[in-house]
Amino acid sequence: MRYLQTRALVLSSRPFGETDRLLSLLSWDEGKIVAKAPGARRVKSKLAATVELFTCGNFLLYRGRTLFTVSQAQVETSFRGLMLHVDDYARGVYFAELVERLLPEGEPNPAVFQLLLNAWSILQQGKGDKELLSRFFELRLLMLLGFRPHCDACVFCGNREGPFFWNMAAGGIYCENCRPAQRQGISLSRGTHALLKNLQRISERELATLRARQTQQKELADFTACFIQYWTDTGPFKSLSFLQEIRPQV
Ligand SMILES: [Zn+2]
Repeated sequence: MRYLQTRALVLSSRPFGETDRLLSLLSWDEGKIVAKAPGARRVKSKLAATVELFTCGNFLLYRGRTLFTVSQAQVETSFRGLMLHVDDYARGVYFAELVERLLPEGEPNPAVFQLLLNAWSILQQGKGDKELLSRFFELRLLMLLGFRPHCDACVFCGNREGPFFWNMAAGGIYCENCRPAQRQGISLSRGTHALLKNLQRISERELATLRARQTQQKELADFTACFIQYWTDTGPFKSLSFLQEIRPQV
């Protein structure tokens, strides 16, 4: 089959050659793929609007030897509203970058597709706390890709009462009594630990009403950033550094 008809999210859209765009797409049917959109940077191009970042569309793609070529495309939903505010834009890009870097090429994952589609949608609607949406997105994506942090109880004694400390190498938490003398580990207070566990199980609807203290927000953001770097070897995210810079200081 030389043609692929698929629903896809535009994870990135970069200038390519004189008039083309090079897209990273998350396809419902084929997972992460790379496609060229010929002539998409021409003023009169029919493809121009459909190959923008933050688009969910239906694509007809021609399968070449090294990459796909967009033959036709129709917008299903556009999240262009994210481009209006620098914070929303950086957050929307961060979600796309996380998927782009963590998902192996060519492996369909409808749950990840739905997670990203919902996250862009919630972000554009402006419902709820955006920092908590980011933590929710990170934790749920990690779970879907098999990187679930084990934080139900202390990995050494089984204690379920915090405060806890995250042991990066063990991939789990340990309690105050079992904490080694060197006292390394990322601090997870009782409140932050409860927030983390909550974000791993609640629905997107429940997320809209969830609130947290600034200190818990910061602890959790530090934890997820370290976890992602340690376990997934993705390197730094420019969009995340930007969001950290504009985050209120605790
Ligand atoms: Zn313990």
